[in-house]
Amino acid sequence: IFNFSAGPAVLPTTVLEQVRDELLDWHGRGMGIMEMSHRGKDFTGVLHEAEADLRDLMGIPSNYKVLFLQGGATQQFAQIPMNLLAGRSADYVVTGSWSKKAYKEAQHLGGVRLAGSTEASAFTCLPAANELKLDPQAAYLHLCTNETIHGVEMFDLPEVPAGVPVVADMSSHILSRPMDVSRYGLIYAGAQKNIGPAGLVIVIVREDLLGKASAITPSVMNFATMAEHDSMLNTPPTFGIYLAGLVFKNLKAQGGLAAVEQTNIAKAKRVYDAIDGSGGFYRNPVDAPCRSRMNVPFTLANPALDAEFLAEAAERRLEGLKGHKSVGGMRASIYNAMSLDGVEALVGLMQDFAARKA
Ligand code: PLP
Repeated sequence: IFNFSAGPAVLPTTVLEQVRDELLDWHGRGMGIMEMSHRGKDFTGVLHEAEADLRDLMGIPSNYKVLFLQGGATQQFAQIPMNLLAGRSADYVVTGSWSKKAYKEAQHLGGVRLAGSTEASAFTCLPAANELKLDPQAAYLHLCTNETIHGVEMFDLPEVPAGVPVVADMSSHILSRPMDVSRYGLIYAGAQKNIGPAGLVIVIVREDLLGKASAITPSVMNFATMAEHDSMLNTPPTFGIYLAGLVFKNLKAQGGLAAVEQTNIAKAKRVYDAIDGSGGFYRNPVDAPCRSRMNVPFTLANPALDAEFLAEAAERRLEGLKGHKSVGGMRASIYNAMSLDGVEALVGLMQDFAARKA
């Protein structure tokens, strides 16, 4: 089966096979990792190895903490302002549903400004530099660097006033290509696309941003407290961390993120070429320079054919292609774990279907 779902969770088959094999007996210990004490040396070894592999893969500088937290990316929409606002205001750029949700949530928690929005263009582009109104005094600038629903990806960061840290929601494209972590104050990502099971969320935060949390911040939501306790103030999501660690090793074995990026470029090009070469049968509305390599929404010129397209996809065992209800049509999510073979199968369907129905 080829799973084009936007999540959760699309994982490499070899990793799932390893999990299956280790589920009842991890490394000959007679029980699985999820049954072991999180404070024992087996699990702490798993946690530290996962962190070391992630640092290696992403080139995370030593002045950044890596936190393995819970509550998904949505909890971060609240947790980030609680930890970083420090009585100031933050700038939000709204480029799709997810950054809009982050902006709305932050409004409950303090002063936030809308520094730019592409809602008037139905989230099909990114704001031009002169459309951003950035506050040089902002506590941070929040961006969603890949909008999962609208299929808009940021390949370059906007020019940010000196001293304003960039906070990025990378949930749906983290680990899809090399990123220069040092350009961000904080990166966060729900695990359930390119990392592992839902529930786990990874936060990579520059140390100088710690210790500014508002007084009402619960300890499990306080980045400084969680960093002090190595993400183990309470019981961490042990199974998710173990699985994430296996995915990190799998990506390293593929040659790291530069190699992963080359495959992702080839996969995305194949799908967009099929859309653009269909003579208008299929359409993706996003400006070419910011088309997401991970999430490709597309519509059929005749929406009356949507159900038939999905039925034929199901016959070919291509799953999860129905588009998000807010944009309609289809969405092919082609995360790291989607193979080129899967993309070829999708393109084959798109071309056959168009040839018969056009
Ligand atoms: N941010 C982005 C970019 C997403 O795609 C999602 C959805 O998966 C979220 C945030 C919300 O994540 P969660 O459901 O883990 O809270």
